[in-house]
Amino acid sequence: MNYISTRHKSVKVTAAKAIAQGISVEGGLFVPDTFPTLKKEDFEALTKLDYKGRAKYILKEFLDDFTEEEVNYCIEGAYTGTFDNEQPAPISLLGKKVNILELWHGPTCAFKDLALQLLPYLLTTSAKKVNDGKKTVILVATSGDTGKAALEGFKDVPDTEIMVFYPSEGVSPMQKLQMDSQKGDNVHVCAIKGNFDDAQTGVKKIFTDNAVKEKLLENNMLFSSANSINWGRLAPQIVYYISAYCDLLQREDFEGEFNIVVPTGNFGNILAAYYAKKMGVPVGKLICASNSNNVLTDFIESGTYNRNRDFYTTISPSMDILISSNLERMIFELSGNDDKKVAAWQDSLSANGSFTVDEDMKSKIKDIFWGGCCDDNETLKTIGKYFSEYGYLCDTHTAVALNVYEQYVNTTGDDKATVIASTASPYKFANSVLSAVSDSTGADEFETVKVLSNVTKTCIPEPIKALENAEVRFKEICDKSEMLSSVYKALKIN
Ligand SMILES: *Cc1c(COP(=O)(O)O)cnc(C)c1O
Repeated sequence: MNYISTRHKSVKVTAAKAIAQGISVEGGLFVPDTFPTLKKEDFEALTKLDYKGRAKYILKEFLDDFTEEEVNYCIEGAYTGTFDNEQPAPISLLGKKVNILELWHGPTCAFKDLALQLLPYLLTTSAKKVNDGKKTVILVATSGDTGKAALEGFKDVPDTEIMVFYPSEGVSPMQKLQMDSQKGDNVHVCAIKGNFDDAQTGVKKIFTDNAVKEKLLENNMLFSSANSINWGRLAPQIVYYISAYCDLLQREDFEGEFNIVVPTGNFGNILAAYYAKKMGVPVGKLICASNSNNVLTDFIESGTYNRNRDFYTTISPSMDILISSNLERMIFELSGNDDKKVAAWQDSLSANGSFTVDEDMKSKIKDIFWGGCCDDNETLKTIGKYFSEYGYLCDTHTAVALNVYEQYVNTTGDDKATVIASTASPYKFANSVLSAVSDSTGADEFETVKVLSNVTKTCIPEPIKALENAEVRFKEICDKSEMLSSVYKALKIN
């Protein structure tokens, strides 16, 4: 299997190269040039396996330049003892048809763990093949959740160092403590005086500075990225949709197709669901759920992607995004791999903030997807409704998905079995969730978490509980002009 660039498809690389490099030189994203297809026998075999077995079966197809031992090593390392549930992606059934696929049983209580626990293994295995044994240095600028998930994933992974920069005033107290208390010998965390954009710009500047690259090479090191456009973050997400189908197959009352609803931001998670469908999972509609930042709802309806609009800060912050980077892979696919068209549309997006696809693609998009959105008020009402009707507590992102699911059923009458991707633990957004189910409040974040547990009779996830007594390891605050020297200091380079 080769990986080709969405903006220049004659660029062809191996899986190891695609993962180690992250993004193609001309700015395109890597996609497989062919997809494996799963037949009845494959699903029968997969159904008998546990999550790790299913992951090995599926991912070896996408990593055909990895040996079987390498694939097994990566998956065992990622999913052994790291999730609080025996299966990393269990399903809770509400009523007869609503299957909540809980993707938040990992160390940071959000779905990014499923990919970020595996990425470090994929990246270091790839780096061994294509970067002859150099140490991989990961730099991350974060507004909160990705930084913590990346730190947990890379902690103590041999031959890697990870450094995370976050804006000192731009993350929640809980997120700050999560990062500042990070354990591991190869982890480095630094708050910067500035906002998220300053952190992001600073990291990009370091990444692209040739003198810095040289200096790292002299020390046998190389930068890489844990960004969500890396194929190594997307591939692990395909697994849980296929795994969910295998779980449905084991139910007596399940047959035929099912729909999938995904609360969407960067379009990575829902794209993985589409790839599962392409590989043979019988998915009916892919339902794309957005909060008030509903650029994708409009795109699916009109064929015009237009980011020139107000940006809203919502209670589902991981979906507060106006540029969905992974959409590029989807339109490449639906255009029949037309790299020229994709490059032109992406240029238009950079230059004017918008692009419009042709009629053919517009109708293909409508065949596959249904888009809907809901505001904060509706999100809170949905949390309350599902808690009182089913005793099921969900987070704000999952609530957006459930709300849009109901809109879909009411509009179309299509009420077949549905998988809802549940992307975070309700305890990660305890303030909003508590306000949706009770009039009680807590004095601070830890109090709120305890009150939520008492009111709802649900358990606080261990990683959140442990935070209250966590030791703060990182206290450094640096000026944005000092980011490079903090990197050198962390890497012990003079
Ligand atoms: C990142 C994130 C999302 C959005 O996922 P995309 O793959 O970017 O579409 C949704 N919910 C939560 C909790 C997230 O952390």
